[in-house]
Amino acid sequence: MTPEEFRVAGHELIDWIADARAGIDARPVLAPVEPGEVRGWFEAAPPTSVQAFDELLGDLETKVLPGVTQVQHPMHFGWFPSNASLASVLGDIASSGIGSLGISWESSPALTEVEQVVCDWMRQLVGLSDRWHGTIHDTASTACLVALLVARERSTDLVQHRGGTQSVDSPLVVYTTVHAHSSVAKAALLAGFGRDNVRMVDVDPRTHAMDPAALESAMADDAAAGRTPVAVVATVGTTGTTAIDPVAAIVTVAKSHGAYVHVDAALAGSAMLLPEYRHLWSGVEEADSLCWNPHKWMGTVLDCSLFYVRDVGLLTRVMSTDPSYLQSTVDGRVPQYRDWGIPMGRRFRALKLLFQLRLDGVEAIQARLRRDLANAAWLEQQVEAAEGWEVCAPVSLQTVCVRHRPTGASGARLEGSALDRHTLGWTRRVNVSGAAYVTASILDGEWMVRISIGVETTERVHVERLWSLLQDAATS
Ligand code: PLP
Repeated sequence: MTPEEFRVAGHELIDWIADARAGIDARPVLAPVEPGEVRGWFEAAPPTSVQAFDELLGDLETKVLPGVTQVQHPMHFGWFPSNASLASVLGDIASSGIGSLGISWESSPALTEVEQVVCDWMRQLVGLSDRWHGTIHDTASTACLVALLVARERSTDLVQHRGGTQSVDSPLVVYTTVHAHSSVAKAALLAGFGRDNVRMVDVDPRTHAMDPAALESAMADDAAAGRTPVAVVATVGTTGTTAIDPVAAIVTVAKSHGAYVHVDAALAGSAMLLPEYRHLWSGVEEADSLCWNPHKWMGTVLDCSLFYVRDVGLLTRVMSTDPSYLQSTVDGRVPQYRDWGIPMGRRFRALKLLFQLRLDGVEAIQARLRRDLANAAWLEQQVEAAEGWEVCAPVSLQTVCVRHRPTGASGARLEGSALDRHTLGWTRRVNVSGAAYVTASILDGEWMVRISIGVETTERVHVERLWSLLQDAATS
């Protein structure tokens, strides 16, 4: 494709994207396709002739969009918001168009230095001190893996340069809670800790947040048994209920055992753009690393996960392999981001943040987050006031967890498997209708429904519509 052909097709593609976004309300939220259906719309054999761009756009319309669950739809209340601000989409296009090779500072000085700039802007915007140094990873999952690798190496005095974990006598232990995201356990397994050495610390039964006294006792037991407490992963804004682990108390306990603390604020980091919410991660300054995803609620198009550490020297000692063909005369004077994470080649992700901050503006983003928080508080009030409904976890951010517990034939409130069948039944009815999407999840042994508010275009009217849909579905 020549630059001239690209210009023409590119204009058409941008128009198509703008139309798809503008018309998103008319689409079902959940992709109405069966497994294998999208695949069946494509030829099994690879294309042998060149296709006209218009024909390809037609395929996007008829074979791709119908298979997309519309998480940008204002009636999407599932999982966590995964906004893709159009300003950040432009940044993503610019990044692809420039086509940088991010393998060293020299291979694209701007890629490295714009990343430094935006990571530092984001640090300031969430109120972190300048002791923190950031980089952009693809996901919070990767960030957590990197954090646990660094923690492992810190506690073993860089055993990777000797016999690795296979030469360690004392089992190395990681602490988190059952409410942490599954990526935490996955990172611990990948980092070689082994499932036997991942402790699910008890939580406060009301808030579902880690109990620091239980952490202390788990660490003390392990130490007494000759095991080494290595790291705690604290979650600020758990996936199920947005529970807030008490970071300050966790750091105090962890430090007394020489353990590393990683704070996973994948969703809640966006709330830290609002000064009035920063108390939720109070104590974070004393943690060792933290991560949050602008690609969730804040709205930078996937993938964009910010990872901050205080000790860059330690991070790079663990992550660097320094092949000779990448050495250059600027080494030591510039960050080489390949030594801050796992992949060597990186995309110019910083442009997505640059575009979003410059074109959407921080004040508009903050106003939108406050709108979502107010909408969640409104919905919480409605649910609490409604007969047969309950809010089943504290609403600390923008997610409201609910159950509808009707009275059964015997006159008793539904419980156990009968309640679960009821919950999954009405959730399914809402979701397959295409009118809205919510996520069911198990909390304290029973299914409940998470209503996660925060799509860029979701206004109060949409939350009102959802509440009425939920009531109809649960009582029909
Ligand atoms: N941590 C928390 C608290 C999450 O809610 C999620 C995803 O929703 C993750 C981590 C994983 O995020 P990612 O998809 O960026 O790996």
